[in-house]
Amino acid sequence: MKILMIISAAVFMALAGSGCAQDPPLFDGEKAYAILKKQCDFGPRVPGTLAHQKCRDYLVTALRGYADQVSTQDFLHTFGTPVQSARASNIIANFQSAKGDRVLLCAHWDCRHIADEDPDVNNRNKPVLGANDGASGVAVLLEIARLLKAQPPRQGVDIVLFDAEDQGNHQDNRSFAKGSQFFARHVVPTFNPRYGILLDLVGDKDLAIYQEAYSLQMARPVVDKVWAAAQKLGISEFIPQQGYAVFDDHIPLLERGIPCIDIIDFDYKYWHTVSDTPDKCSAASLEKVGRTVLEVLYRP
Ligand SMILES: [Zn+2]
Repeated sequence: MKILMIISAAVFMALAGSGCAQDPPLFDGEKAYAILKKQCDFGPRVPGTLAHQKCRDYLVTALRGYADQVSTQDFLHTFGTPVQSARASNIIANFQSAKGDRVLLCAHWDCRHIADEDPDVNNRNKPVLGANDGASGVAVLLEIARLLKAQPPRQGVDIVLFDAEDQGNHQDNRSFAKGSQFFARHVVPTFNPRYGILLDLVGDKDLAIYQEAYSLQMARPVVDKVWAAAQKLGISEFIPQQGYAVFDDHIPLLERGIPCIDIIDFDYKYWHTVSDTPDKCSAASLEKVGRTVLEVLYRP
């Protein structure tokens, strides 16, 4: 009897070790939407502004409540015309730091300094509030952070919130994704997550997420895994067809050898306009994205 029990315990341990599925915790879209609004309440989080500083403190404090370890990676960010300089900070939160098997989840938390796509020329020098372009990805990741603490998955997770994504000029790709470029340049060689998922523009009420072209080209197995998870959950807003190619925060990571995909709904009428406000986003959309990511994390 005793031997049998030991054997069954050993079998159980072996199964657990092989990564058998866990039920993912429940993602709360309303909680995520409240986090989206909270960020917007600070105002446009443009580097160098008080809103940016306040939001940074809020994000660090919130993540400290959930992660093993939270750090910031600060750098000087130069952008705009006339040229200005400001401190920028990537915010890094580690969950189950001791685990070697890791997954990277990321989003950008800054806002564009100019609404240069606004239909009204008088608005084009105003900053973007970034409800969808900025706050939505962060909102999903903060809600996930809460759940990672409540019910840790088998693998370790690192959440990185990039700064300085969105102050570039469209003639020069590399003037975008500055925080991610800085992160990729300074990342330690031992940091080798199995895969990465970037969330950008994931809050649109009218959600339709096609497969981003660079992700397909350079990290297809991760794309397949994520869209299969959505399909399994019956989330039809993840459309298994190729969409735009977007130079986003995943590119510097892909170049560094990290298979990171971009979950992005780039068909957003209010992109880089002053109308990118919380009323254009919904709790339901955030929840669909959050549930899909959790499905991938907890049922690998
Ligand atoms: Zn943007």
